[in-house]
Formats: sequence, C-alpha cells, structure tokens
Amino acid sequence: MSSSKRTRSWAEPYKIKMVEPVRMISREEREEAIAEAGYNTFLLRSRDVYIDLLTDSGTSAMSDRQWAGIMMGDEAYAGSENFYHLAEAVKKYYGYTFLVPTHQGRGAEHIISQLLIEEGDFVPGNMYFTTTKLHQELAGGTFVDVIVDEAHDPESEHPFKANVDLNKLEDLIKRKGADKIPYIAIATSVNMAGGQPISMANLKKVRRLTRRYGIPIIHDMTRVAENAYFIKQREKGYENTPVRDIVHEICSLTDGATMSAKKDALVNIGGFLALNDEELFREAQNMVVIYEGLHTYGGMAGRDMEALAIGIRESVDEDHIHARVGQVQYLGNQLIDMGVPVVHPIGSHGVFLNAKKILPHLSQDQLPAQSLAAALYVDSGVRSMERGIVSAGRNPETGEHHYPELELVRLTIPRRVYTQAHMDVVAESVEAVYDNRDHISGLSFDYEPEYLRFFQSRFKKSKKS
Ligand SMILES: *Cc1c(COP(=O)(O)O)cnc(C)c1O
Repeated sequence: MSSSKRTRSWAEPYKIKMVEPVRMISREEREEAIAEAGYNTFLLRSRDVYIDLLTDSGTSAMSDRQWAGIMMGDEAYAGSENFYHLAEAVKKYYGYTFLVPTHQGRGAEHIISQLLIEEGDFVPGNMYFTTTKLHQELAGGTFVDVIVDEAHDPESEHPFKANVDLNKLEDLIKRKGADKIPYIAIATSVNMAGGQPISMANLKKVRRLTRRYGIPIIHDMTRVAENAYFIKQREKGYENTPVRDIVHEICSLTDGATMSAKKDALVNIGGFLALNDEELFREAQNMVVIYEGLHTYGGMAGRDMEALAIGIRESVDEDHIHARVGQVQYLGNQLIDMGVPVVHPIGSHGVFLNAKKILPHLSQDQLPAQSLAAALYVDSGVRSMERGIVSAGRNPETGEHHYPELELVRLTIPRRVYTQAHMDVVAESVEAVYDNRDHISGLSFDYEPEYLRFFQSRFKKSKKS
C-alpha cells in the first residue's frame, strides 16, 4: 500500500444482507435490569442490551459461504465428511497433523490437561486464562506466569506484551526441574493482557529454550490470526508476509494447540485440540469419546464443523483481519483522544478500560471494574465485562482473593457484527461515564460460586465511600 493510500478512510470489507434489530430500553428499565442481574453483566438478558460488547466469543457474524456450509452438514454419527474438511483446513492453514474436535476451547483444555499434567507439576504460561488455568489446577498442576513484566503495566507501550520473559522461564525450569514441567502454554494475542501479541522472535527463543530441556509448547491459538496481524504491522521482516503465512509459521514453532473456534475462526460454537505427536493424539482421541463425543465430531454437529472449516480460511484473509483489528483500533483511538485511561497499546479484540485509574476512590475490594461495567450499562445499554479481581478468583490453597495488577473493563468487539457508527456510540457513552466517574460507587459480593466466579456471582452496592 502506498503512503498516500494509507491515509484514506477504509470501510468494512462486506455488505450486509440480513439484519437483526437492536433496541435501547429506557434508563429506568436499565437500572432495574442491572439490579436484577446482581450488577453482573453476565446475568443480564440479551434483550435488555443495546450494543453487546460482553465478549467476542461465539458472537461473530458468519459469512454467506459459512451459511452455505451449514446446509452441507453431513450429520452421520461417524466419519462425517465435514470432519475431513475441518481436518484439512487445520492442516493447511495451521499445519497441525492430527485433529481432535471438541465442543469449544475448554473441552480441548480439559483433555490436554488431564493427559499431560500430573499432581505437583508446574505449567508456565504467558499470563493465565480463566478456563485454561482452572483445568491445569483440576489436573493437579500449578500455573506459573512467565510473561514479561510490561504485560502487567497498562501504560507500557511495549509492542509485544505477550512475550515470554526467558529468564523467568529458565529460572522455573532450574528450580523445579524439567520433569516437573509437562509443557509450556503459549497464548497468541493474550486475552487477559488486553489482546497483546507475542513476537515471532520471542517465540523462536522460547522454542530453542524448551527444546533444550525437552519441554513441549502447547499453543492457545484462540486468536492466532490477530496476533499474526500485529506481527505483520510491528515486527521487522514481516511487513510483506501474508498473514496466513505468519499464522502457519507461529504454529510450526509449537507442538500442539487448543482452539476456541468461537473467536478467530468466526463460528458461534466449536473448538479443537490439534497435535503433531501421534501417540498423544491416540490418547486424546480415546479421551474425547468420554467427555465430548465420537472422535469425528467431538461435540460439534457436522454443519458446525463445515462452517468452522470455512471460517478458518476467512480468518486469515488480509482484508478481513485488517478490518477486524482496525475496528478495535478505531474505538480505542477515540477513547485515547477523549483522555479515557485504557490499556496501551490498543489490543486486537477489544479495548480495555483501566478501572483502577478511572475509579481511584474505590479500593480493589470494592470491585472497581465490576462497578464500572455496571455503570456503563446503565448509561447506554452497552454491555462490557469485568477483567479484574472478580475474574482472578481465589487462591485455592489460602482461599484469599488474588489481587491482579490489572483491574480492567473489557469492551470486546464481535467480528463483523457492528459498524463504525456503533463504535462512535460506545465511545460517547464511555466518555459520559468517565466524566461522571466521581459518582460511581463500589460493589461487594452477594453470592459467589466456587468456580469461574465472574460468570455467576451476584453483587450489591456498597455504601457510598
Ligand atoms: C475463550 C478462550 C478460551 C476458552 O474457550 P471456550 O471456547 O470459551 O471454551 C481459552 N483461551 C482463550 C485465550 C480464550 O479467549
């Protein structure tokens, strides 16, 4: 692209042929709805939401090709044609040899954790993810964060905040012994850090180090195409490399992958475990029949596997990924211009509001991010999600809250669903809430479930501080 072209406006690379009406209910109704939901945006009814930025998981708009694929579902219990299409797509675009379909990402996490982790093991990773970490713990392992320190600093402009700190990793290996480390979990475009990428150079170093100790890399490839896009934008030597080739190269540096296809791969449900080791694959194939379904569908309908095979291809298309990440940047840059504290640099799948900085009058025990998410909903019907102390959960041994550095509200952008006009409305609402921030009071737990508490907890308003 020439530099004169780069300054021109761009638009979504599709036109819309089916619409789903949305509506905004009154402010009074929104206040009632959020109180009824226990101030947890996960407990709101979708019909009470105007613009839904809760998550980019399973919320994508499928293409006409994918819908055509849905009609080609081969719903045979065993050996569905769609399974073979999916396995071919995984091999072609990601390079992994063996495929075990699962109903979504956590199904794959469950299987790999049970197969590889033994009681007392340590699993290093470039920041935790909620379901990933829980499955590691349920298998008897302990998660150890080996991400670079910059990842925990929302203001650091580090271009690759998902990089692994190789000293932290090697320290852990030396302290615990390589035999206590069944694998390292490497996520691309790290969700909990704000959708931040790992560089190819760093991944290559991780590969070299882990090979020396005989430790496999399991890739959380949920947002690999988004990570690849950032590598193309920011890493020397990749400016002219197609995103699909970068994706392939990333995968080639790892030994296997868990995938939540509900993100990058543009489907509403689905996931898989992909492996290169045949013996491990046989074990996973045997385990999937216990928890998910037969090894040629693993919890997905045939039609879903077909839509996924097509979605994988579309996910690495240059125009698609440019517009997808571009829309997130568009919203993020507006908020930066408005002076709203957000995580820098703007990530790939959402804009993360720095609730700690926006609500300095609330202590972390008053759940600043949860409170901010509730206030944003009341202002405009925009639904967001807490990524702070509530999401971090409790230490299973001491029972105490984890106190994460980052106390964030995530505005997650579904793929191909909203237009730039929706982004303008969101930015204006965030600005209005920001202007009114001194009047936002805190919350406290009213009900707290044992696992993944952010999904189902209920809160009550604490007294005005
Ligand atoms: C969503 C997600 C998962 C879990 O996948 P599900 O499909 O929700 O089960 C795992 N890792 C990351 C990084 C995710 O974003």
